[in-house]
Amino acid sequence: MSRPAAMDFLLPDRLDEALHAMAARAGTVPVAGGTDVMVRLARGLERPPAAVDLTRIPGLARWERSAGRVRIGATVPYTRIAGELAGPLPGLAAAARTVGSRQIRNRGTVGGALGTASAGGDVHPVLLACDAEVELVSARGTRRVPVREFYTGPGRTVRAPDELVRAVLVPEAEGPQSYAKAGRRGALVVATCSFAVALWPSRGRVGTGIGAAADRPLPACEAERFVAGELAERRLWRSRGPLPDSVLARFGELAAAAASPADDVRGSSAYRRHAVAVLARRALGWVWDDYRADRTAKEAACA
Ligand SMILES: Cc1cc2nc3c(=O)[nH]c(=O)nc-3n(C[C@H](O)[C@H](O)[C@H](O)COP(=O)(O)OP(=O)(O)OC[C@H]3O[C@@H](n4cnc5c(N)ncnc54)[C@H](O)[C@@H]3O)c2cc1C
Repeated sequence: MSRPAAMDFLLPDRLDEALHAMAARAGTVPVAGGTDVMVRLARGLERPPAAVDLTRIPGLARWERSAGRVRIGATVPYTRIAGELAGPLPGLAAAARTVGSRQIRNRGTVGGALGTASAGGDVHPVLLACDAEVELVSARGTRRVPVREFYTGPGRTVRAPDELVRAVLVPEAEGPQSYAKAGRRGALVVATCSFAVALWPSRGRVGTGIGAAADRPLPACEAERFVAGELAERRLWRSRGPLPDSVLARFGELAAAAASPADDVRGSSAYRRHAVAVLARRALGWVWDDYRADRTAKEAACA
């Protein structure tokens, strides 16, 4: 049996060293938690000339709040997102809680999810619903890309081969958010399809994201426009009245229409489209109920 080609495994403790390594040799692969990339390396599915471990670079493992956004370093693991950011980022924390097992959540990172860019990755729908921005860095400089422009195809993004995801910037929640995931089991499962919704009352906006129901994560733009129009026309942001069932149902239909799911081992295209409609309808119903309950709580506190 032939031995696999040698691969350098680099352990920089400074970002500039990592960027230099990425620029120096084409095909160099960054490693964060390793929950995707180490599986591929172990199975011999890829054999890069070098791998660069990012976990010793202190600046990548921090999050901070600034100017109404949370800037999450690329190697902050899901466990910390779920445990430390449920207040400012309830949707992202909810999605992080659904990822894999405790071991996977202890290792896996948002930077790694953006590197893999799997259509079924749990954090992507929430990043879309929140209009997050991805910060990319290379030896050539830094740039920020709206997450809605980040995904370009199956496992493909606008990230150049020498660029690293340095951080993701997520606006702090100003209303309820929800992440709904359908899978073959209730836990420890990759999504068959998923849906995120976030309310932005100050802008009269409802953000959405669909997972595992197209070749990439994507927003349900027509559903967003429809429900924003209904909420404005019916003055529901102010009155916090109930959302009619017809609005919830139409929202679900438009979300399903935005999806273009494929048949695979996790589910048929028809099932996925149906499930997106159900998840979207439920997720919007939940966040709207929470929005209304918030008024009740404030009124009770003032009485
Ligand atoms: C058993 C198991 C269960 C899983 N369950 C789920 C699940 O339920 N939900 C889910 O969403 N995912 C799941 N995953 C997939 C995986 O855990 C996630 O995609 C995770 O976010 C990957 O993060 P990581 O830090 O481990 O990435 P890594 O494996 O280190 O890297 C993943 C990819 O991103 C690149 N990369 C890493 N960091 C960067 C960076 N900073 N900049 C640019 N590129 C980078 C790597 O080169 C590689 O291509 C599961 C994986 C396993 C093995």
